[in-house]
Amino acid sequence: MCGIVGYIGKREAYAVLIKGLERLEYRGYDSAGIALLDKGVFSVYKKKGKVAELKNFIEQQGKKFPPLLYKERGQEVRSGIAHTRWATHGAPSDKNAHPQLSNSGEIAIVHNGIIENYLSIKEMLMKKGYKFKSDTDTEVLANLIEDIKKNAKVSIDEAVRLALLEVVGAYAILVLSKDEPDTIVVAKIGSPAVIGVGDNEFFVASDATPIIEYTDKVIYLEDREMAMIKGGALVIKTIDNETRNPYIQKTKMKIEELEKGGFPHFMLKEIFEQPRSIGDSMRGRINANEGTVKLGGIEKDKEKLLDAKRIIILACGTSFHAGLEAKYFFEELTKVPTVVEYASEFRYRNPVIYENDLVIAISQSGETADTLAAVKLAKEKGATIFGICNVVGSSISRIAHAGLYTHAGPEIGVASTKAFTAQIAVLMLMCLFIASEKKLLNKKKMIAILTELENIPKKVEQAFLAEAAIKKVAKKFKNTENFIYLGRGYGFPLALEGALKLKEISYIHAEGYASGEMKHGPIALVDDNMPVLFIANKGSSYEKIISNMMEVKARNGTIIAIITKGDTRAKKIADYSIEIPETSDIMLAFTASIPLQLLAYHIASLRGCGIDKPRNLAKSVTVE
Ligand code: GLU
Repeated sequence: MCGIVGYIGKREAYAVLIKGLERLEYRGYDSAGIALLDKGVFSVYKKKGKVAELKNFIEQQGKKFPPLLYKERGQEVRSGIAHTRWATHGAPSDKNAHPQLSNSGEIAIVHNGIIENYLSIKEMLMKKGYKFKSDTDTEVLANLIEDIKKNAKVSIDEAVRLALLEVVGAYAILVLSKDEPDTIVVAKIGSPAVIGVGDNEFFVASDATPIIEYTDKVIYLEDREMAMIKGGALVIKTIDNETRNPYIQKTKMKIEELEKGGFPHFMLKEIFEQPRSIGDSMRGRINANEGTVKLGGIEKDKEKLLDAKRIIILACGTSFHAGLEAKYFFEELTKVPTVVEYASEFRYRNPVIYENDLVIAISQSGETADTLAAVKLAKEKGATIFGICNVVGSSISRIAHAGLYTHAGPEIGVASTKAFTAQIAVLMLMCLFIASEKKLLNKKKMIAILTELENIPKKVEQAFLAEAAIKKVAKKFKNTENFIYLGRGYGFPLALEGALKLKEISYIHAEGYASGEMKHGPIALVDDNMPVLFIANKGSSYEKIISNMMEVKARNGTIIAIITKGDTRAKKIADYSIEIPETSDIMLAFTASIPLQLLAYHIASLRGCGIDKPRNLAKSVTVE
């Protein structure tokens, strides 16, 4: 959610920053802005709306930068900070967009997150005569830094540090000061910040995507850490003034992974990437011939996993649905009671945690604020935390005792697709690992399950064959206002996920239900206007699903059914059917997710929706 980018070095800062903002667009935002520090003068440009609008706005002004001024100036240091905002304090508008300047115009700041005690600080500053032009909490911080800098007569980095000691909340900030043009300051608590280390130049961003074009050397700042990049050197310390050694790592992210590769949208590209991403999430982790699962990331804490008396899965959104799906196979195969909770609920109640509880936190970005806070709470209460994240080096992956990366590659589309199936793959490996270590599954059974798992990428390929049928359904229902999604057993979390996908990107109201629940309420909604999608694969709930389909048919509902290839019985009942290849129950998510994702995609596409950046949504939800 929202993003920061900073640059200091000898390149054209503008070009690096605008490209960086474009890279961060996928995170979701409502306005954007840039501040360039040039010969002791700030040029600040801010716009509500897309980065492209900001770019047009800047370039239409016929400004002499870039590149003329820079070329004339030669080898001077150039710096700038930029931001995509997801409004929390004050409506999306030009004035509330960042960078925010301090009263004297001396300090510019971009900020992700929330300053919780901004009101009391604002009142204090107003008494001192400070005026505020925006409604943001960020402008308060800019002025607090200015006030401290003036009164304590300290350098910008020290002023930032002292200001942060007074601040309560979550943030990643970048600060520039007019009278110290060779310095950029970055600090974080709660929101992510990555520093790219180049050759006499530094990049800072919310994730590595704006950086990897220039360098693969990155430093992930920890909470309460700040970095001063000053005169070409980097110093890291904590807000409490303890020096830290920078830990520089190499990121493996590749530029091609950030491009659309010929697809009209990232979402579609990512849907079609699933045979590869599911394969990657299992690569090196299973040996089907021997019937073994090897999970390096949890090896050292294996006992904790095996001793767990209860598994608590914490997640939000699509990851929550992956957790629900996992509950079914965890309980079936490991016999360990498994509960799945919205992280946003868990963290605000007083949950009971026992010593032998194992918490599995699932988050694509690894930065989801609610999941992160829930994990911290569970950790404080003594639980062992395993993280399942896609973004390497993310906060949840670092705070967890152990964990597994999903290795799905960067997911840019806001509506999660390939991360979901990769999460399920990794959860399944974890489950099979427990079941086999505890001898709940014999060799033969393990070999059979792992062989099926190994073939899943091929089955996913086959699921794409239904795209023509899906497009037909999309065309028929593109103008509907409501949808019901029903499934049982392993199909139930998928019904929830299918409905969520449709809501997210097409803005059609959709309800996901356990189909056994239909008669307890939702069936009242069924009439000849209501499309009802059934996940009607030939699994253990098949007969019951067929009965539910008959019940809908008896009430004139229109049935779209996702059926197992070759199943004539369900096909006859349904008005529209979409075939998927046959799998065992536990693997249903891999194949059934494909038509659910494609249906949402094609409906949204026909409705002309902004698929990769749906309204009001953000990719990584870093506010609470
Ligand atoms: N709280 C700040 C604002 O509303 C920052 C929001 C963000 O993270 O983009 O301006």
